[in-house]
Amino acid sequence: MTGQWLLIGYAGLLPFLLFVLLCGDRPSFEGTCLERTHHFIFAGGCCESLQYLIFKLFGEIGSRTCSSVEQYLCDRPNPILQLFYLSILGGSYFAIASTSLQYIPGIYVSEWHKYAGQAAVLVGLLLFLLTSFTDPGVINSTTLQKHISSFPYDGVIYGEKKDCSTCNVSRPARSKHCSICDRCVARFDHHCGWMNNCIGEKNLRYFLSFLIWHVILCWYGAVLLGAILLGEVEGRNVVRAISYYYGSPSTLREVYPHVLQWLLTFYSTQVLMMVFLLVVSILLAGFALYHIYLVVVNTTTNETYKWDAFQRWQADVAWKKILDESRKAAADRPESGEKVSRKCGLFSFLFRRHPKTPPKPAPSAFKRDNIYNRGMLANLAEVIFPLSQRNRRKKKE
Ligand SMILES: [Zn+2]
Ligand SMILES: [Zn+2]
Repeated sequence: MTGQWLLIGYAGLLPFLLFVLLCGDRPSFEGTCLERTHHFIFAGGCCESLQYLIFKLFGEIGSRTCSSVEQYLCDRPNPILQLFYLSILGGSYFAIASTSLQYIPGIYVSEWHKYAGQAAVLVGLLLFLLTSFTDPGVINSTTLQKHISSFPYDGVIYGEKKDCSTCNVSRPARSKHCSICDRCVARFDHHCGWMNNCIGEKNLRYFLSFLIWHVILCWYGAVLLGAILLGEVEGRNVVRAISYYYGSPSTLREVYPHVLQWLLTFYSTQVLMMVFLLVVSILLAGFALYHIYLVVVNTTTNETYKWDAFQRWQADVAWKKILDESRKAAADRPESGEKVSRKCGLFSFLFRRHPKTPPKPAPSAFKRDNIYNRGMLANLAEVIFPLSQRNRRKKKE
């Protein structure tokens, strides 16, 4: 019974944590409890609270030790999330293999799924290793020239050639200095804690393959478990037994609540693992679709933040211009302006802004002129065959 509750906790808590980690810091959740949970668990909030508690309990020495640990966990490359991923993958595989391989082959599952399942997990592991340990496109004196020639400066979010003050190399367009890994990375997307590596020009293809493959892996596992359970229900004549018990012939559709109860009693691990895999697959599919969209329009996570900031700045500039014009127009009509301000002064505490103040333009009204978008197929090819590696091949020829 304890094991069953542990499984329920495992299947319920993990998807929630994954969702908070992947989506909690998105602008759409700004100010919500999801953002606060993300900040608390993954952005150092829990470290701050713990540090405060340790300071109260152990004084200055405890606080300093805590700071060093926090720095290692949050600001330096570390394998904690990599080990967490391996424990999820290994734990899920072990839970399914130890409870379900005995039912293969079954009525709906062929023998070869025993080996296909293992191969699918190994491919997932291989993609994880490739994303984690291959070069994301580190910029140094040797690689600088080919990265500079890969992308032009667009004059908007990448104004002009600048030097990175930490690495002492020029920053090519679309690159960024990763503060965690302390290096500049070409076509920087984001630093991935799960991979303990930056996602950049050269390993984005592995990262995308990893996401897509894990969505397929979760669906495969869920369907396989579903087929095993259905085979067991049919093989053990569960529907007929329930019909006999209730004294009237029934179909699976009519007695499915009883069948579900029977499954939860005798096959709880398989049912819970199936639900867990479906939930994780939905979350991963959302994250994978977001990254596929970024590839299709040839932009990066880092650039979406840059464009957001640029659009907000444009909206501010436009609004300032509108306000100046409106003030100038009011000054040309001194009598009417005086009347309005006196009227509104009475109820000014009710309004966040003067009722006659023109509305602020929405940042989304300003266009993103992305010069790197060269059409869907060319954008996709750019991720599969990175431009900096193509340049090298051309030079060799
Ligand atoms: Zn740098
Ligand atoms: Zn990094």
